[in-house]
Amino acid sequence: MKYSVVIPIYNEEDTLPELYKRLEAVMSGLKDTYELIFVNDGSRDRSEETLKSYAAQNRSIKIISLSRNFGLQPAYSAGINHASGDMVIPMDGDLQDPPELIPKMIDKMREGYDVVYAVKIKRQENIFKRFAFSAFYRILRRAANVDMPLDAGSFSIMNRKVVDIFKMLPEKNRLVSGIRAWVGFRQIGFPFERDARFHGKPRQTFFRLMRMATDGLFSFSSVPIQAATVLGLIASGLSLLIIIVVVILKLFTDIIPVLGWASLIVTVVFFGGIQLVFIGILGEYICRIFDEVRGRPHYLVKDKVGFDDAR
Ligand code: UDP
Ligand code: MG
Repeated sequence: MKYSVVIPIYNEEDTLPELYKRLEAVMSGLKDTYELIFVNDGSRDRSEETLKSYAAQNRSIKIISLSRNFGLQPAYSAGINHASGDMVIPMDGDLQDPPELIPKMIDKMREGYDVVYAVKIKRQENIFKRFAFSAFYRILRRAANVDMPLDAGSFSIMNRKVVDIFKMLPEKNRLVSGIRAWVGFRQIGFPFERDARFHGKPRQTFFRLMRMATDGLFSFSSVPIQAATVLGLIASGLSLLIIIVVVILKLFTDIIPVLGWASLIVTVVFFGGIQLVFIGILGEYICRIFDEVRGRPHYLVKDKVGFDDAR
């Protein structure tokens, strides 16, 4: 049995020593072989040098350096694509996902699961972020065509069967938690309290986080665009009623001249807004289609350390 831990790293020089220490302690405590695949996602600090110094002492350490910063999900994809273990463990590199959980999750895997994913029961994060995350997961669960587990991020263990499917999927833009849920098979959540970040501020910008959220929604759900059909039908029905009322008023009464500007402007503004929103939503789908059709890779590897085919 071999384990591959995949850890994306972006400017984590202050966290790396502690991360390495704890991970190494946990993994060498297992009686199986393992590799720690660090994906250096274009770090601008000394993360790369630090990682290389670890790799020089420890043959279990492998490094994939990307040509620039591509973002968390592409970094995960890069690492998972290079993992050779029978079990692959994606894990954040800021120690919010505690390495000490891994042996317990492995025990759970032994009960015959294909995937064990960590579920956050408490988050050491600010209220706004907690609320945003919890709202997002709940909306996604409702809207998605797959059974998305609540409050599950990337941290998980997947067996070879699931990882091979993950790698085989033709789409470039992959949300680890989304695809994992989509794959199916036997899965179970593993509750844990998510720690606070070990050092510094989150490396994910707010914009990137939003992008991940919309990616999750639009790649796993057609509900946003179907909402246009439903709203459109309702609006058409209503307008039919209004037409009838207006015609009757016009033909049989003299109220019509008083009705006018206010209702007109409200209708114009309201439907103008709705139409723009749905053009935007259409655009979101088209952007993603364009992205996939163009077929550019979602990450580029600059160099690799510790792999057999490393250059
Ligand atoms: N990360 C990355 N590329 C990025 C942003 C983040 O590889 O562009 C890494 C980061 O170093 C960390 C993990 O992804 O190991 C999670 O990032 P962060 O804690 O900033 O995200 P959050 O916890 O806010 O989702
Ligand atoms: Mg974090």
